[in-house]
Formats: sequence, structure tokens, C-alpha cells
Amino acid sequence: MFTQDQTIAAIATAPGVGAIGVIRLSGPDAIAITDRIFKGKKLEKQATHTLHFGKIVDTAGHTIDEVVVSLYRGPRSYTGEDVIEISGHGSPYILQRIMEACTTAGARLALPGEYTQRAFLNGKMDLAQAEAVADLIAADSAAAQQTALKQLRGGFSNDLKQLRAQLIEFAALIELELDFAEEDVAFADRDKLYGLINELSNATHQLIHSFRLGNVIKNGVSVAIIGKPNAGKSTLLNALLNEERAIVSDIAGTTRDTIEEILNINGLLFRLIDTAGIRENTSDAIEQIGVGRSLEKMRQADIVLYLFDAQSEDEAAVLQQQQQFEAEGLKYLLVANKADLLEPGAAQQRYPALWEQLLFVSAKQKTDIEAIRTHLFDTVSEGQVNTENTIVTNARHHAALLKVAECLDDIHAGMTANISGDLLALDIRRCLYYLSLITGTVEVDRDILGTIFGRFCIGK
Ligand code: GDP
Repeated sequence: MFTQDQTIAAIATAPGVGAIGVIRLSGPDAIAITDRIFKGKKLEKQATHTLHFGKIVDTAGHTIDEVVVSLYRGPRSYTGEDVIEISGHGSPYILQRIMEACTTAGARLALPGEYTQRAFLNGKMDLAQAEAVADLIAADSAAAQQTALKQLRGGFSNDLKQLRAQLIEFAALIELELDFAEEDVAFADRDKLYGLINELSNATHQLIHSFRLGNVIKNGVSVAIIGKPNAGKSTLLNALLNEERAIVSDIAGTTRDTIEEILNINGLLFRLIDTAGIRENTSDAIEQIGVGRSLEKMRQADIVLYLFDAQSEDEAAVLQQQQQFEAEGLKYLLVANKADLLEPGAAQQRYPALWEQLLFVSAKQKTDIEAIRTHLFDTVSEGQVNTENTIVTNARHHAALLKVAECLDDIHAGMTANISGDLLALDIRRCLYYLSLITGTVEVDRDILGTIFGRFCIGK
């Protein structure tokens, strides 16, 4: 399916009308094919990394568009092959006509991700970097963009290279021991070997751990706003979003359905889910559906924001609610609303046990809303966002790292059990294999490659 001797073409810009639309060709005949439809300088004679103004014409010789052609000769191009980019006017009709001209002249339509796959196959980037390209395109927050960019520049690959180098050093020491086993000489200092394995294990676990945050960066954090009817959930949602989105009313239970809104806090995306209030013994059928849904949403959410009316809900009730969150193992935030209605100094008296961990706000007057934002961010960021630390965002990498950790445990256990060196060597090789699966430095299964690149959009 993926043969590199063919020249591929695709519209590289987003669908729809734009000022400029770009068509990209890559492959051995990219330049020759473009020469067939381009009226301007003969491109075959031009140097690499040059721009050329001219016209694209159809088979009848009619002009389709005036364009600028960018010419890159392999291997100094994105894919490592000869690449042509035709920048025309961004009308879907014109771009489609240019595409037709390209395919008539000998190019074939590119499959999703085929450009990046060629870049990978031609050694322009490793697999982790190629996957970062997809992530970068999909990035919809600053944190996601930064993480993908770091991975694309090879930050993650460097970490892996370091792990690999350490593992190879370890393997060399073990092998040395093997060679001289009969002479009963322990070359490799056992303590040093244990130290090395522990170091590797720590580094791997750190990467594995970062995936939780990586997932958050990529997919956002879901926050369920839970509370009794009239606690002020809709008002708080509006305050957080600074807009009048949800319908606010005085009649208890008006937020029937769940609403989802996106909040960007310091580059992290939070998906706020406003739910119908938790109310026991409700008889209204519609309300019951709403309540059921809110409990369900609560269990699915990454964080539960429990909002209560500080005037009407006493400490015993909040404590009971807290116990339920604890019992369900949820991450939660307790927010006391309508603080504007409390007498000055009454807060501490009313909530002696919980006082220190409560956030007191007034959703209506928009006071101390920032504290909620800060708290939400801190809960998930764990001080890791915007640091130099590598964050694993890809489920495939995460799975491979879990395998690496497993192998490292096996090696550790093997050493403790004094198993023979050649068995240890096997475990080490397995460990190296899983590491290289991430960067694609070993033969990665064709099916896996297909899945990875199939997720790309066409034109990338
Ligand atoms: P929900 O049922 O939990 O979504 O509650 P709403 O957001 O609809 O609010 C219920 C009522 O409480 C409305 O009349 C709001 O104006 C009022 N309310 C909400 N937040 C505050 C607050 O901080 N202070 C005061 N005084 N009233 C509030």
C-alpha cells in the first residue's frame, strides 16, 4: 500500500475558503509532474529551496490559477524526497482543479499521514517525533502545543536515548561478567549494577507517571460542578466563563440538562460540566433523570467541584458529602458559595472543621473566583506544566514504557535471584526492544505503522 516510488499529492491546507491554499507533492516525479502543468520557468532546471511564480494549466491549456511554486529537492525536504508546494488561491474549487491536474499528470492522492510516514521511513524523524506532528496539528491549548513541539524537537527521544545508553552500559557490564564467569571474577560491581537498574527504573516510572498529566494536556480535564439546586452552580459557571451562558433562575432545579463549557487556565483546558443538582427523594421524573446523569457525570469527571450555599448548608451536610467523595476515591474541591450573605467572621464559626480547606466565594458578585481557577490548575498540574520535564502524552508510548518498567523489574528480580547472566541478557534485550518500539528504531509492525499514520489528516 505504502510504496515510496510513487509521487503523492494532497491539499495541505484546511478545508474551506482561505486566502491561500497549498497543494503538496512528494516523490521521485514531483518536479517532473509539476513541470507538466506549470507555465513558468522549467522547474527541473531550478535549484532547491527556490520559489517560482507562474500558472497552473489544465490539459486543454486553460489557466486554472496563478500560483507560487516552492521547490525542495530531497533529501533536504520534509519527507526527504523531492517536494513541491503549489500555493494557489484558497478556493476549494480551484484547489480541487489543481489536484485534478496533478493526478492527471501522474501523481496519486496521498493517504492520511503519508507525508509524515515517508519522513519517518526516510529517517527524517523518529516515530515519537512523527506522532508529535499529529499532536501538534491537533493541539488546541498552549500546554498541548508546547508538549507536542518539545516531542517533535526530540526532547522525549533524547530521554529515551539516554535510557537506552544506560541500559547498554548495564548490558556491557553483565556481559563482562559472563565472559569471565568460569574464572569466578566479578568484574561488575553488584552495587553499581543495582544502582543503574534503580536509576533506569526511576526514570521510566517518572515518564509513566507523567502520562496522567500528558493525557490531561492532550484531552483536557473534566470538572463536574455538583451541588444542590440553587447552590449557585449556573451562576458560578457564568462567573468562571465570564459570560452569560447557562440559564440562571430562582426556581430550584432549572438546570435540567448538562452543559459543557471549556475553560482555559494557564494553557490547560478544563471542560466544565454543569449538572442538575444532587437532590434526594425527588419525585419529578425529569429532575430524576437529571440527577442520575449528574451522579454519572460526577464519577466520570477528573475533578468534582462541590458547590454549596454557605447560608443554608451546614458543616454536617458538607462533611457527609465529603465522605462520599472520599469513599468513591474522587478528586474534589469544596466551594462555599454566597459568602456575600454571611456575616463577617461567620465562616470560621459555621465550618470549624472544614474551614481551612474550603474556598469561600460569591458567584454572583464574582469574588474569589480566581482562587477556584488557581486551585483547579494546581490540582492537575502537580508543578509539572510549563517545566522542562518530559511529559508522555501518547498512549502507545505509555504502553511501551509500562513494558520497559516490567522488564526492569524482571532484571532486578533476576539479579537478586542470582539467575544466570544469559537469562539476564535476554531480559535486557527485551527491555531495549520496547524502548526502541517508541522511537521506531526497530522494525515496527506494518499494522502499527498503519494505525499511527492513519490517524493523520490527508496532506500531512
Ligand atoms: P443552581 O441551581 O445551582 O444552578 O443555582 P443558580 O446559579 O441558578 O442560582 C440560584 C440563585 O442563587 C440565583 O437567584 C442566583 O442569583 C443566586 N446566587 C448564586 N450565587 C450567588 C451568590 O454568590 N450570592 C448570592 N447572594 N446569590 C447567589
